[in-house]
Amino acid sequence: MPMGHEVHGQGGFKFQNWAKTYGSSPELYFQPTSVEEIREILDMARQRDKRVKVVGGGHSPSDIACTDDFMIQMGKMNRVLKVDKEKQQVTVEGGIFLSDLNVELSKHGLALANLGAVSEVAAAGVIGTGTHNTGIKHGILPTQVVALTLLTASGEILECSESINADIFQAARLHLGCLGIVLTVTFQCVPQFHLHEVAFPSTLTEVLDHLNDHLQRSQYFRFLWFPHSENVSVIYQDPTNKPPSSSASWWWDYAVGYYLLEFLLWISTFVPSLVCWINRFFFWLLFSSRVENIAISYKIFNYECRFKQHVQDWAIPIEKTKEALLELKAALENNPKMVAHYPVEVRFARGDDIWLSPCFQRDSCYMNIIMYRPYGKNVPRLNYWLTYEGIMKKHGGRPHWAKAHSCTRKDLEKMYPAFRKFCSVREKLDPTGMFLNTYLEKVFY
Ligand SMILES: Cc1cc2nc3c(=O)[nH]c(=O)nc-3n(C[C@H](O)[C@H](O)[C@H](O)COP(=O)(O)OP(=O)(O)OC[C@H]3O[C@@H](n4cnc5c(N)ncnc54)[C@H](O)[C@@H]3O)c2cc1C
Repeated sequence: MPMGHEVHGQGGFKFQNWAKTYGSSPELYFQPTSVEEIREILDMARQRDKRVKVVGGGHSPSDIACTDDFMIQMGKMNRVLKVDKEKQQVTVEGGIFLSDLNVELSKHGLALANLGAVSEVAAAGVIGTGTHNTGIKHGILPTQVVALTLLTASGEILECSESINADIFQAARLHLGCLGIVLTVTFQCVPQFHLHEVAFPSTLTEVLDHLNDHLQRSQYFRFLWFPHSENVSVIYQDPTNKPPSSSASWWWDYAVGYYLLEFLLWISTFVPSLVCWINRFFFWLLFSSRVENIAISYKIFNYECRFKQHVQDWAIPIEKTKEALLELKAALENNPKMVAHYPVEVRFARGDDIWLSPCFQRDSCYMNIIMYRPYGKNVPRLNYWLTYEGIMKKHGGRPHWAKAHSCTRKDLEKMYPAFRKFCSVREKLDPTGMFLNTYLEKVFY
């Protein structure tokens, strides 16, 4: 960028997250194209005593990316900088969407070993909140990061990896957007692969009684429980050498099913007791037979999330899975007025050593609960939410950082053995709290 050119911020921008459940009105909205421009924005923020929040894909179902001061959207800093075929590593700018990265990697015969449900999310954004998928041999997405660079509040660029700035690296692999601006991320990749997906019906009792067998049988095992019933859909995904198969009719059923579901859930906002039957009906309609599909890995990992929802997703120690899920089931049975939309999605992740990882030092089970917003209408969920959080807390749970939760520093200090270490790195890198917002104040104060 030529010297003397002033970076331009847009006024009047309204930010909303993907689910339109949280939003804010940043005073100025920037889409920088270079590090120099970002430095100018930080200078301007410092002079005007403003805070700065970076946003990636804006998918977090919470106010973690909201600000009324300066917002930086990193979508124009989205290049693939280096592909190291020998080490099978890729270095990208922080703003690249995983959807673009997946395609780029496949041109080089590479892939990410695991992905979340959507790829319209940024490389720096997914590691910011600890995005995860499933598979007991696989860690959350930040475990795939081998290096990153951070532009700090003072304008300094820090290279971080296991061997350089190691402490900052352990913090920044799951950074909450509060340590600085993540400029680049280096991911460890694997050779490109196809996945064979098999979904088949089962019951909650069967899955919980044979959890270990399922975990061993499939590399990316997860299951969907249909609350107010025993119904479960088990999903196995495993690498295969077979060529892709077509699953058009399944997806067609799915699409039609979604429109019907939204309509019926809207009706149920007037007659809540219908939810129990809606959950059963859709299990019967969409999930009661065996379905198979083969495709390139990212097309199987990603699935369509068609309409807007509230979610919670805590990680508990894996050995607590059965107890916690049965308690949630009993709570719903004992309180007929409390309704729960399907599915409760149960996924697994290997323990790691990332300071703010919900899987820190323990193999974990993530239990994602959901309440849809049919046609944008909020369905009462407070009772369900509090009951769920109570059960998760009782079993040593830790909330997903992207998803709205009620935890404050007091809770988090108990949950995370390395919480104070993270705080001291944050205070060193950002002493004036330039990268804080309301969500983060709750976390750190
Ligand atoms: C439909 C849907 C499906 C989802 N599926 C899953 C799933 O399967 N598993 C799962 O774990 N989560 C899932 N999520 C949550 C999602 O993966 C996370 O919210 C993720 O962080 C979103 O990435 P993003 O780029 O949209 O981040 P944003 O929401 O934009 O930002 C997240 C955080 O990263 C920070 N940030 C972003 N870019 C930078 C940067 N360059 N430098 C510094 N900080 C930065 C932001 O300030 C913020 O703190 C899903 C969400 C939706 C809406």
